[in-house]
Amino acid sequence: MRICRFDHDRIGVVKGDVVHDVSGVLAELDSVRWPLPAGDLFVGALDRLRPTIKAEIGRGPQLPLSELQLLSPVANPTKIIAAPLNYPLHVLEAADSAINHGVHYGTHDGFETPIDKFGLFLKSPTGLIGCGEEIVLPFPDRRNDHEVELAVIIGRKCRHVSRQDALTRVAGYAIGLDMTIRGPEDRSYRKSPDSFSVLGPWLVTADEIPEPDALEFSIRVDGELRQHSNTARLIVDVRDLIVRASALYTLYPGDIILTGTPEGVGEVHSGSLLEASIERIGDMQVRVA
Ligand code: MN
Repeated sequence: MRICRFDHDRIGVVKGDVVHDVSGVLAELDSVRWPLPAGDLFVGALDRLRPTIKAEIGRGPQLPLSELQLLSPVANPTKIIAAPLNYPLHVLEAADSAINHGVHYGTHDGFETPIDKFGLFLKSPTGLIGCGEEIVLPFPDRRNDHEVELAVIIGRKCRHVSRQDALTRVAGYAIGLDMTIRGPEDRSYRKSPDSFSVLGPWLVTADEIPEPDALEFSIRVDGELRQHSNTARLIVDVRDLIVRASALYTLYPGDIILTGTPEGVGEVHSGSLLEASIERIGDMQVRVA
């Protein structure tokens, strides 16, 4: 099932060019009091809500997808976890000082993988937008890059997850853009401005993607193909990323893991149109303001 959040926090099921408004399902969410429970209420309840969502299809309005504003399919992640240097050819290109700025080296001598050396990093969840919103560059005179990545959306609270159980903790998948200012500052600073994490166009439930490590994906900027790879080339694969992240952090429903970007990162500018696509998920277009 392809589940989107659109316009003023409505929930839809996408079928082709049509969105079935199933927002009636939101009446079944728990009412909450302070302190709010950690994690995204809707994503955390998704399994329980599925029969109602299916029943709502066809009952509410059917809307043309092209006329809706798509928001991030996750409204309230507690964190966005991201993998640096997780495709071999991106590790090589990151040796370019215009990318690493003498700080974020691609070398990982003595370690089996770059992630063994550098670990994972966090992006601020307040930087999250959907593809119906615009990327805003706070420093338009600096180098601002696109990074297209498979995004994993966690469905259940979990900690110390085994490799064997890892995919059972996943609610679904989406396209992620890990927008990045190049420079010497910490990753959490350069990758966390408002609008620098794009998630969309919708959440595809995990049952539709039994093998996340075999998905073709790409991004075009103003029509030019910039990145094209397959998640089969991930150095640390999706299961292992969940193992590593949950070894460190409690994962909550709606938490997002950006799995890393392949070679071909490059600049975007004011007015750029980004068109990203991942097999079995779909296509999305997002504009730089
Ligand atoms: Mn990235």
